[in-house]
Amino acid sequence: MKIRVIGGGIAGSEVALSLAGSGLSVELYEMRPSVSTGVHNSGDFAELVCSNSLKSESLENASGLLKEEGLKLGTHLLKIALKHRVPAGKALAVDRRAFSEEVTRLIESHPLISLKREEVYELDTENHINVVCTGPLTSERLESFLRGMFGEDLFFFDAVAPIVDAESILTEKAFVADRYSNGDGDYINCPLTQEEYSVFWRELVEAEVIEVENFSDRLLFERCQPVEEIARSGFDALRFGPMKPVGLIDPATGREAYATVQLRKENSQGTLLGLVGFQTRLKWGEQARVFSLIPALKEADFVRYGVMHRNTYLNSPLIIDPQLSARDYRRLFFAGQITGLEGYVEAMVSGRIAAINVKRFLEDRESLVLPPTTMTGGLIEHITVAGRTPLKPVYANFGLLPGVKGRGKVDRNRKKVSRAREDLDLFLERWRLDHNDL
Ligand SMILES: Cc1cc2nc3c(=O)[nH]c(=O)nc-3n(C[C@H](O)[C@H](O)[C@H](O)COP(=O)(O)OP(=O)(O)OC[C@H]3O[C@@H](n4cnc5c(N)ncnc54)[C@H](O)[C@@H]3O)c2cc1C
Repeated sequence: MKIRVIGGGIAGSEVALSLAGSGLSVELYEMRPSVSTGVHNSGDFAELVCSNSLKSESLENASGLLKEEGLKLGTHLLKIALKHRVPAGKALAVDRRAFSEEVTRLIESHPLISLKREEVYELDTENHINVVCTGPLTSERLESFLRGMFGEDLFFFDAVAPIVDAESILTEKAFVADRYSNGDGDYINCPLTQEEYSVFWRELVEAEVIEVENFSDRLLFERCQPVEEIARSGFDALRFGPMKPVGLIDPATGREAYATVQLRKENSQGTLLGLVGFQTRLKWGEQARVFSLIPALKEADFVRYGVMHRNTYLNSPLIIDPQLSARDYRRLFFAGQITGLEGYVEAMVSGRIAAINVKRFLEDRESLVLPPTTMTGGLIEHITVAGRTPLKPVYANFGLLPGVKGRGKVDRNRKKVSRAREDLDLFLERWRLDHNDL
């Protein structure tokens, strides 16, 4: 039985290095450079397609916690990232070329990794183990093969506005109101003065966007315009579009503001809020910088950035088990963004977990399922617990972890972090796992 890793992006490179590192032979299939995704620029493995930031390392931050866990679990790509870091304050940013060149060198020189530079468009789930890591831009032929296996439980979407953690909104700079008071107070409004709007508008039109080859013009006209495109059509265009203040009276002034951004609940508890009409192609770092110029969002935690691109992912809660294999095909594993876990570090860590469970499956050992109080366990639980359908892709955030009591958000997050660290250490001790154990 062969082990086939499909996709040499972030997750697939981790899976291949993890499995080969534990003494198993793998075939790694990567379609680049002969077939393009439209976003990757090279034929290298583990190319970081956009920002070179792997986000914060601080343990006050969900991504910092995920990184610490990933390192404790022995994630190869995180160790390589640390070697190629460039100064970026509290964030782990890397020299992207040096990073993917080293991953490529390690993969190409590994005696147990056999490289196949070709597109895979069907899977033999009877005779081989397959680990599918083809990411958000899975080739169309493989996507249609997967659709044949899983039917409509495969998603493809392309235009999402950013989502923020409701607790991070500066409530004194916002107000609850529906336009012309029509409704039950479903919207949180973030007003801007003329001066604030001018600064915001200028930064928005000048911000960097993600260039996607063959980005469909149809989308821009038929579906929705990215907020930066609307802004580019004129200084006031946003005030007649997604930032229209009409009918929204700010109780602080008794008047309509110069411009207003509306936030709407993204989940029934109202802990996540989406920026209405703010679908965007801005780079993720740019989204954080520019959208934080909206006064109420000055300290906003972006739980999800806006995207406008093809994004293939499975309705994982119906398809995948917490060991990251398909419920109906035990030899078929998934990792990375195709599972609904979004972000570089999420892809790395999910690759590591999938590899661990492939090895354990082959040895007939119990699968490794981390406690849901850890960030890794919380992420995997989120994408694999039935009932959470349809799935919306997520990256590490504290809202995924079970609640704790505390004074304010910072205190509660700190408690979640200490619990996660303790639980992971206990778990690793109980399972007698160390860095090298697969
Ligand atoms: C435009 C864009 C911008 C993003 N910006 C950021 C960001 O700034 N920060 C962040 O953390 N995350 C970002 N993400 C998300 C991030 O890219 C992904 O989370 C991460 O790269 C996913 O890793 P992956 O291994 O799942 O997929 P990828 O890294 O995309 O790897 C998938 C690999 O599979 C290959 N492949 C696809 N189909 C086939 C096939 N049929 N046969 C063989 N090979 C195949 C592809 O060529 C690719 O190399 C962005 C995503 C996109 C699309």
